[in-house]
Amino acid sequence: MKRETLLLGTSDTELLKAASALRCGEVVGIPTETVYGLAADATNEEAVRKVFAAKGRPADNPLIVHLADFSLAEKYTSYIPPLAKKLAESFCPGPLTMVMPKNDRIPSVTSGGLDTVGIRVPSHPVMHRLLEISGLAIAAPSANRSGYPSPTAARHVMDDMNGKIFGVIDGGPCEFGVESTVISFDGESSVRILRPGCVTRNMLLDFCDDVIIDKAILSEVAAGEKVASPGMKYKHYSPRANVILVEGSIEAMKKYLSRPLPFQSYALLYEAQEDFPCPYLTYGSNSFDQARLVFQRLRELDDIRAGTVYVQAPSKQGVGLAVYNRLIRAAGFEVIRI
Ligand code: AMP
Ligand code: MG
Repeated sequence: MKRETLLLGTSDTELLKAASALRCGEVVGIPTETVYGLAADATNEEAVRKVFAAKGRPADNPLIVHLADFSLAEKYTSYIPPLAKKLAESFCPGPLTMVMPKNDRIPSVTSGGLDTVGIRVPSHPVMHRLLEISGLAIAAPSANRSGYPSPTAARHVMDDMNGKIFGVIDGGPCEFGVESTVISFDGESSVRILRPGCVTRNMLLDFCDDVIIDKAILSEVAAGEKVASPGMKYKHYSPRANVILVEGSIEAMKKYLSRPLPFQSYALLYEAQEDFPCPYLTYGSNSFDQARLVFQRLRELDDIRAGTVYVQAPSKQGVGLAVYNRLIRAAGFEVIRI
């Protein structure tokens, strides 16, 4: 019989329960400042395999390893670039993942077969406390079924994982709502953004000579093409509804959608509009609100059985680039320019 997943609170007693489950090789849903994660002991191959199985995640897509403090990175890497130490002073704890050469403490199953590991120090107080209490390095991808929108509330994790994992810690809604910025190092003073997040290119430019935005962030990866970050190859962030990104003014969008539309068509707009020609939800008029709400709205659109969703495209500037990156993948790169 399938065992119900426990919903855990954030008191030390509950976190001790979660920590002891993790130490026994179980999987626990955890809140972070970015999205909810699916946590396992990063050094325990069996536990990490359970994470891949619960998500249905391809085995070559590596897991990010979360630490209580950046000083612990030495324990799990074979080399830490001086620039990583400098960036850590400003961005750890926080939503930045740095890819570095791993050592043997990180099993190949955790790193998706790569010889590198992405290290992050989360700022969420509950996640931080769990890292402290457990004393573990915690591998944690986003806690959604692979390919679907990421979870930004404990309820979303329950929707996707009930019966598949030991428990979920309910730490409330996530502050940022999109996953961490993932970077790798290009020489001594430059970095490459492999996945955009709330640590933006401009923020990194204060510390680096150059910050390259990997081309796979905004464009489709051709079949068989080599990518810097395996996650970029896969269908991602998609609800069941067919998402279409619409680039153009709100007036043009109104006009475009004033024609017979597919069954159960909805729009996802920045803000409320009078006389809009089809039903819609809103996801905020600035990039921070959009980041915080985008995945929740995609899940809500599935809940109301949306068939097709026309999304008012976000800006590609600053945090907007992270939102655009998630939506263009949710749309399977289907963009209408009007
Ligand atoms: P998620 O686990 O859902 O937050 O996704 C993690 C993302 O980080 C995926 O796109 C991975 O491919 C990427 N990633 C994690 N570790 C590495 C690594 N060692 N090298 C390159 N990309 C990585
Ligand atoms: Mg993910």
